[in-house]
Amino acid sequence: MIRRLCIIGVGLIGGSLARALREQEACGEIVGCGRREAPLKLAVETGVVDRYTLDPAAAARGADMVVLAVPLGAMESLMGAIRPALDGDAVLTDVGSAKRAVLKAAETVFGGAPENFVPGHPVAGTEHSGVEASFAGLFEGRRVILTPTARTGSAATARVRRMWEAAGAEVVEMDADHHDTVLAGTSHLPHVLAFNLVDSLARGRDAAEVFAYAAGGFRDFTRIASSDPVMWRDICIANADAVLAALDRFGADLERVRKAIERHDGDALLEVFERARAARERWLR
Ligand code: NAP
Repeated sequence: MIRRLCIIGVGLIGGSLARALREQEACGEIVGCGRREAPLKLAVETGVVDRYTLDPAAAARGADMVVLAVPLGAMESLMGAIRPALDGDAVLTDVGSAKRAVLKAAETVFGGAPENFVPGHPVAGTEHSGVEASFAGLFEGRRVILTPTARTGSAATARVRRMWEAAGAEVVEMDADHHDTVLAGTSHLPHVLAFNLVDSLARGRDAAEVFAYAAGGFRDFTRIASSDPVMWRDICIANADAVLAALDRFGADLERVRKAIERHDGDALLEVFERARAARERWLR
């Protein structure tokens, strides 16, 4: 289906996509690219990619599908680096967690979002990073959101859709603005809260004791604070408007809970906690 796949950023997401497509025999050659040689050597040794180069243009040359799987802050410079090397019929896509910023980068580099560029975001991941954390089943039964623009060609979108379906994902399409608003609430805000909670507790005078007595609830709530700080810095900045709106709304709700505790208003607390538990149970089902 894909003759030569170029993956720039052979980490958790890029490595998992390569593994899944290889397992499904959905592509021919896979070329990897990154900044460091050691993880790319490991990617070749473990069969994730066939070969690698540290030069993004050389990696993209001759590929019919190019996937940018790097932190958001690196997207624009990499688009600039590969632009002269992209084949006319090559499809370019990305996996970035915020979509407006990637579209803006493409518009800057290409002078308008190109027809063959299909922005994408697999809503799947773990708190681990790097090719050593990648696995073929990561996208199995998970959603991938594509955010094509009015200028995106339908054939390019269809090719990216088929790629993710071959990796086991369910593909949906939505507008980039809507994507960024929805993901700010369900993904970006929880990461900000988890990082912030752990940092706040770790800086307290009684930190050693707090961590000594932390148990399952703390582990569950803070798992995502083990995620890559660079990636999450980039996401917060790339999606700043939507993350700020989600934070403001959450802050106002938290203040209401704070006031209820101050007033010893058990009914108000129970209303919030019961509503939350019911919503979570509905989501789990
Ligand atoms: P990762 O495991 O850290 O992999 C990132 C890869 O990009 C690494 O192999 C890194 O290798 C390479 N890289 C970084 N900067 C580069 C540059 N300037 N030029 C070339 N290669 C570069 O991160 P990830 O979790 O796969 O995340 C990658 C993207 O997926 C991000 O945009 C993120 O928003 C998105 N995403 C992540 C998740 C998740 O849960 N992790 C879920 C959905 C989407 P070198 O350091 O050797 O260059």
